[in-house]
Amino acid sequence: MTTLLTVEDLHADYGVGKVLHGIGFSVAEGEICAILGPNGAGKTTLLRALCGTIRTGGTLRLGDVALPRRNPESVARLGVAHVPEGRGTFAPLTVEENLRLGAYTRRERAGVPRDIERVYEYFPVLKQRRGQAAGSLSGGEQQMLAIGRALMSRPRLLLLDEPSLGLAPMITRELFEIVRTVNEEERMTVILVEQNAHLTLEFAHRAHVIETGRIVLSGTAEEIRSDEQVVAAYLGIE
Ligand code: ATP
Repeated sequence: MTTLLTVEDLHADYGVGKVLHGIGFSVAEGEICAILGPNGAGKTTLLRALCGTIRTGGTLRLGDVALPRRNPESVARLGVAHVPEGRGTFAPLTVEENLRLGAYTRRERAGVPRDIERVYEYFPVLKQRRGQAAGSLSGGEQQMLAIGRALMSRPRLLLLDEPSLGLAPMITRELFEIVRTVNEEERMTVILVEQNAHLTLEFAHRAHVIETGRIVLSGTAEEIRSDEQVVAAYLGIE
């Protein structure tokens, strides 16, 4: 297995005390890697560190390349796409305009229309709503649009921050099924940050559990799911 992302001794803070205390893990190419843990554990901070929006210490590598510090644009150009919590689509713009914006880091433009069609194949509802303002979409559709927009940059690594937030369980499942299809069809590597541990472990290959800025448990999704004590201790009973 080829390692796509290497994280070693990662520290991060917002200038008011440390939030991540020496995180280390790696993600293989083509894997869905879940980051689980309670509220405030540091999951969002970890994604911000990976995509270069906050100050960090330690090592971050994508393949053989060191990820630049505090330079989200360069990180994006290297192939890391971040779908933040709360989605961050542009409400007044149409669905299709949002998708086009997602391609802004790409040098080659010729493939953009084809990739918009590809996103519509994954998310047929977005095609129906292509001319509609993003702000008028349902929560689930907005999350689909945010992921579709991230795919438009043709990333090597897709970072999803709590995509299930505010969505009904059925919609979340539908969304995760599509993420799995993208992962399988494109060998897209995904880091999925979630509080919804049970559902996430159905879709992830590996998982790391974070508590107060440290990894307290790592394993295959199967290992973590099958250990009831672990599930009860770290992930709560849902
Ligand atoms: P949640 O699921 O609630 O988003 P999380 O695991 O993603 O939780 P983080 O959002 O990474 O956790 O927060 C970790 C810690 O960092 C918390 O103590 C939080 O208060 C702090 N924190 C997060 N964002 C900031 C910020 N912009 N400035 C200062 N502290 C912050």
